[in-house]
Amino acid sequence: QVRVRFAPSPTGHLHIGGARSALFNYLFARHHGGDFIVRIEDTDRKRNVEEAEAKLIESLRWFGTEWDESIDKDGGVGPYRSMDRLDIYKEYIDKLVEEGKAYHCYCTEEELNAEREAMKARGETPRYSGKCRHLAPEQIEAYKAEGRTSSIRFRVPENREYIVHDHIRGEVKFESNGIGDFVIARPDGIPTYNFAVVIDDYLMKITHVIRGEEHLSNTPRQLMIYEAFGFEAPEFAHVALILNPDGKKMSKRDESLIQFVEQYRDLGYLPEALMNFLALLGWSPEEEREIFTREELIDKFSLSRVSKSPAIFDIHKLNWMNNHYIKQAPVERIAELCIPHMQKAGQLPQKLNEDQYEWAKQVVALYQEQLQYAAEITGLASLFFENEVQYDEEAKAVLSDEQVPDVMKAFHEELVTLKEYTPDTIKEALKAVQKVTGQKGKKLFMPVRVATTGLTHGRDLNQTLFLLGRDKVVSRVQNVIN
Ligand code: GLU
Repeated sequence: QVRVRFAPSPTGHLHIGGARSALFNYLFARHHGGDFIVRIEDTDRKRNVEEAEAKLIESLRWFGTEWDESIDKDGGVGPYRSMDRLDIYKEYIDKLVEEGKAYHCYCTEEELNAEREAMKARGETPRYSGKCRHLAPEQIEAYKAEGRTSSIRFRVPENREYIVHDHIRGEVKFESNGIGDFVIARPDGIPTYNFAVVIDDYLMKITHVIRGEEHLSNTPRQLMIYEAFGFEAPEFAHVALILNPDGKKMSKRDESLIQFVEQYRDLGYLPEALMNFLALLGWSPEEEREIFTREELIDKFSLSRVSKSPAIFDIHKLNWMNNHYIKQAPVERIAELCIPHMQKAGQLPQKLNEDQYEWAKQVVALYQEQLQYAAEITGLASLFFENEVQYDEEAKAVLSDEQVPDVMKAFHEELVTLKEYTPDTIKEALKAVQKVTGQKGKKLFMPVRVATTGLTHGRDLNQTLFLLGRDKVVSRVQNVIN
């Protein structure tokens, strides 16, 4: 039975890299009819951020990688939050210490820093020297008398080679001599990630660990711990990084990039678009095609087609894909996403009555084809909300054509005498203007469009004029006449 997990630390919002890891795990689990577990790794308390756990779960839920077990859904191997598992870890830590596979280390922060600096100065890669490996009982007593506390270090086996048989990267070898004895529990007894993750993956019967490449160097440490307990290790797959378009590593601090799932949600991206896009970030199906439903992704996903070279994050592709899904969605759904943006921009009242909602929905429908994401609506539809139309140079040039005054006057005539104001009657009115003025095509429609919207291009003219409403159209046309 395949069992995989996504194990975020509650240190911030769900990053797109994390979302991709979650997705690959999810697709792998579903493909194999296995279980997908979401576990919270919160033992690094200094890095924990309040509310982050709730936000992570909320983002994941929106994203759509449904899980079988987590903090809200017990599958019998919980708890699913590391800090709720301290008793479990303690038992295993004690066992390693008893067997001499781990030991108490009394070095202070200052001593460790000094040691690191000295190694660096000698051109060596810093690692723990093993100073506390063989402390005499008197020395331990002396340290205790000084009031020193101890952390627990894992005794790294000497002269060994650890091989990660990685589904994506192939065989990756690590020399144990390059790895210093590492801390598995801090003085307060709380285990470090490298220890807790092994116990959790083992007890939760995880069969495949699919995670970001940044964890590859942790894997030999984890293999040592599996070995020390005599546990069978899971299989590993380390997914390559996501790079910026400029080929640099994505930095969470780079604010020019939209990096968090929550931000995409708030901008009005559709979860299925983000899922489709992230699936192709590092994984490629056999076919050349780009659009895949969730079911298709599940059906086609395999680790063997995950690339070992980094994926480039291309927001234009995401926008293209999101537009594809927006076009397919019912207008009501897109309106639900767009309206809050229009409200926030002061374009719509906070509470809409039925007519206002209906109107807003039609405005959204007008732009649905064009929208890359919902937040764009406020810019695209701004012509509906301006009191005065601003005419730029291009617009002024159109309006200075010689036939324009005639066209405007005739259109004004028609507008004020129209009995009903609908897209159809507007169309008729424009036909009448054509008859009266002898102008047609661009000479007729362009000035009308520019006068009423300020723009030389846009969506369907009759529908635009209809949604603008007669009053606005009349006053904008009048402005041009005067
Ligand atoms: N808690 C780790 C992180 O957030 C996940 C490590 C793992 O998947 O083993 O990066």
